Amino acid sequence: MTQNRNAALIVKDLRKSFGSHEVLKGISLEAHQGDVISILGSSGSGKSTFLRCINMLETPSTGTITVGGHTILMKTKRDGSSEPADRRQVDAIRAELGMVFQSFNLWSHMTVLENIIEAPVHVLRRPRSECVAQAEELLEKVGLAERRNYYPSHLSGGQQQRAAIARALAMNPKVMLFDEPTSALDPELVGEVLKVMRGLAEEGRTMLVVTHEMAFARNVSNRVLFLHKGEVEADGTPDELFGNTRSERFKQFIASSA
Ligand code: ADP
Ligand code: MG
Repeated sequence: MTQNRNAALIVKDLRKSFGSHEVLKGISLEAHQGDVISILGSSGSGKSTFLRCINMLETPSTGTITVGGHTILMKTKRDGSSEPADRRQVDAIRAELGMVFQSFNLWSHMTVLENIIEAPVHVLRRPRSECVAQAEELLEKVGLAERRNYYPSHLSGGQQQRAAIARALAMNPKVMLFDEPTSALDPELVGEVLKVMRGLAEEGRTMLVVTHEMAFARNVSNRVLFLHKGEVEADGTPDELFGNTRSERFKQFIASSA
């Protein structure tokens, strides 16, 4: 089913230690274009570290990451720490990735519109009028057209997170990374953010989503990765995992998060 589609993201044998604590113990993942992969796992299993290593917010200890024709290889320095073999690849890969955090992370001194056009204007150096036009389309998509001139502090958490999604999309990323995008929201605001994410999935966006929203994992994603103590404990379609997984740990996880 997936073999003829292009790989959007390839992670090979990713390892990450903090001191003597090995948090990621060799994770590999190949995401094809249009894949929506939910990453599940209990607290401390390494989900955030995995996403943060993919866009190099954390420096992996070893492993390779390939996005859009760019590959980051890690090399070990004399003192035992690691660094990317070629820094330029880091910038190239970051430009292909959009990240949405639990805590929104909008710039508080800028309006919603300014937040969205900031990187396209100043990093991509695209004409401002073109960036504003694109931002308006994105605001429409996330249901915030009326809020373009608001400052983040005057928006609800759900609106801020939808603005953060629009801001990430404005860089036209190949892959979107979401780290528990609804975990900081009041329950009544979760649905509006999930609805936007479902829309992106239906558009064929490639997404990696760390989430505790089981309905999203089951119904929106086409693949589920379950991490346990820094390893892939189970990996498959939602039907395979939720239907008849052989992983006792996944069954326990589901039972405890119901
Ligand atoms: P999750 O997102 O699944 O809850 P994390 O990736 O945040 O898990 O953390 C995995 C493990 O790595 C935890 O034991 C956490 O304490 C540890 N860890 C994460 N970040 C750091 C850091 N910057 N320094 C030291 N340990 C860290
Ligand atoms: Mg986390």
